[in-house]
Amino acid sequence: MLTGTETITYYNHAPEPLSFLWLQLDQNLYAKGNMTSRTATTSIRDSVPAYLFAIRSDVTDYEGGYRIASVKDATTKKDLPFLINYTMMRIDLPQPLKTGEKFTFSVDWSFNINDRMIVDGRGGMEFFPEDGNYAYTLAQWFPRMCVFDDYEGWQNKQFLGKGEFALTFGNYRVRITVPSDHIVGATGWLQNPKEVLSREQTERFEKARTTFDQPVFIVTEEEARKKEKEHSAKKNTWEFYAENVRDFAFTTSRKYIWDAMAVKIGDKTPLAQSLYPKEGNPLWSRESTKAIKNTLEVYSARTIDYPYPTAYSVHSARQGMEYPMICFNYGRPAKDGTYSDRVLDAMISVVVHEVGHNFFPMIVNSDERQWTWMDEGLNTFLEKETKRERYPALDLIHGSPKGIVPFMKGDKSLMRPVMASSDNQGKSFSPNGYTKPSAALTVLRETVMGPELFDKAFKEYAQRWAFKHPNPGDFFRTMEDASAVDLDWFWRGWFYTTDNVDVTVDEVKWYKVKTSQVDPENKNVKVKQGDLKAKDSKNTHSDFSNGPQEFMLANTPDNEYGEFKNRIDDNAVRQKLEGKNIYEVTLVNTGGLITPVVIEWSYKDGSKEIERIPAEVWRLDEVEIKKVFVKEKEVVGIVIDPHFETADVNPVDNVFPKRSAVSKFDRFKKN
Ligand SMILES: [Zn+2]
Repeated sequence: MLTGTETITYYNHAPEPLSFLWLQLDQNLYAKGNMTSRTATTSIRDSVPAYLFAIRSDVTDYEGGYRIASVKDATTKKDLPFLINYTMMRIDLPQPLKTGEKFTFSVDWSFNINDRMIVDGRGGMEFFPEDGNYAYTLAQWFPRMCVFDDYEGWQNKQFLGKGEFALTFGNYRVRITVPSDHIVGATGWLQNPKEVLSREQTERFEKARTTFDQPVFIVTEEEARKKEKEHSAKKNTWEFYAENVRDFAFTTSRKYIWDAMAVKIGDKTPLAQSLYPKEGNPLWSRESTKAIKNTLEVYSARTIDYPYPTAYSVHSARQGMEYPMICFNYGRPAKDGTYSDRVLDAMISVVVHEVGHNFFPMIVNSDERQWTWMDEGLNTFLEKETKRERYPALDLIHGSPKGIVPFMKGDKSLMRPVMASSDNQGKSFSPNGYTKPSAALTVLRETVMGPELFDKAFKEYAQRWAFKHPNPGDFFRTMEDASAVDLDWFWRGWFYTTDNVDVTVDEVKWYKVKTSQVDPENKNVKVKQGDLKAKDSKNTHSDFSNGPQEFMLANTPDNEYGEFKNRIDDNAVRQKLEGKNIYEVTLVNTGGLITPVVIEWSYKDGSKEIERIPAEVWRLDEVEIKKVFVKEKEVVGIVIDPHFETADVNPVDNVFPKRSAVSKFDRFKKN
């Protein structure tokens, strides 16, 4: 059981008086009769893992939820009236709190800590049966202030489990009392190392603060193993202080190994710290702190310099979860210490991802209850960028345009747009929160805007909205404002619809200019064949085998010139185009999502050329376009999106001449 008491000083910076305050009681997600299990739709399959069934059908013996012992005015010590509505608590003030005033009140509470193997959650405890010890990761553990802003008023939308947190910035001084052999890590900087660390540990800690090349062990594995057997009856109180953070989480266990190293970011040297039980080794001592350093460096370069004094990565089974300055991450080797490439990849990815959350949403403080993509999507994008820069051998498909194709070509009737709210996403939750926005941002950077414009605009967004509360429009507008790229079509297609990118090459026609004058009768026939019979002549244009058609460049009629006396030299134009290969390409937007067009031309001499056409090419007709290209060399084929950068869901219809698609059944038969 966790027992706590808190004193909150709330400042009213709003222009209007407040007669009541709202606090979030996240632990009530686990209270009996909670809204989430009452409204969950469930079904039976042939076989369901017992722990999942128990959680979803609310049949565990766990008694969760807050017990609120008291809510008092801290000045008068009088009880304050309060009302609990599931995960929200309204506190009525003795008199309205005017603009510029502050109010100090206290809350006493307790709750039973969940065993995460029985009741999964973003926090809780893990029991280690072999040595009888616990590791605690505690989050959403205290009644927290709701956000009051000029956009939403009170953001007191119920916590149903998926939509995470809307939180206001504050300064925290927190004292955590635990058995004296525990190591505690938390949001914030340790204030009383001399009281809770041994002399040797204090020296090692100080050494780590000035060591930049490799982690320094403050508690070694050997020391942690020894402590597992000694259960201290004494207690220690660890004090942490954190400024300008949206939340406070902590972890505590006697099992923890502790390593740390300093990272150079601008003029600051934040301390990267890792805490993990021996079960995480040897993977964790090799990779965790290094991954924190890589993350802080790459993210700082792309957003703002990491402003906090520390960043912890804590090992916690089956979980990846983020808080300011501290996060809980999975990735556990087998019992003999070996681990597969997959475990290594997953472990580094989750550390990069969760440490990366320090930037979104901890600093660029978006409303997670409403918009999962604003932190998860931007963060998945930067996670991928960090891996691309620092871990190129790892899987880079997650969050890429290629990686989102299977989702994008799925059944649209079951899909929600990215802009649907977190708790209403259903099956679309994970792609719409994480990988689709990350893929979209990758398309934006690599194909629509180019890295230089994108990186400048993305950095501008982070700088402009650091320590503020942006909404989707703030992101959309900043990206345009800082780049001079009109992206309205992009946000509309990728964020507000379930359309996908699917460009179809309908037809490619090959022409040459006829240079000699012909009699008008003959000319008309030629022009008709080339220009007007596109649809009915489809079958005759399935490849280039019939050779080029000729078309005539007629003399410019006098009425084109009007009153101007100067004349174009029609023959010079004809001569310039003489012998050139001219291609008329017809493209159809089958998927509905507007996209830049990347064309790869293959020439007869074996060379290739990539041509990029901005998405604005669709502005007059978003269904079908024709475009003429003049080439020196003879073309043998074209491919749209050859490197899978636009998330085109059907590459089969992107090629000309068309390749006959062999069905899976025919391939099977052949084999
Ligand atoms: Zn995340």
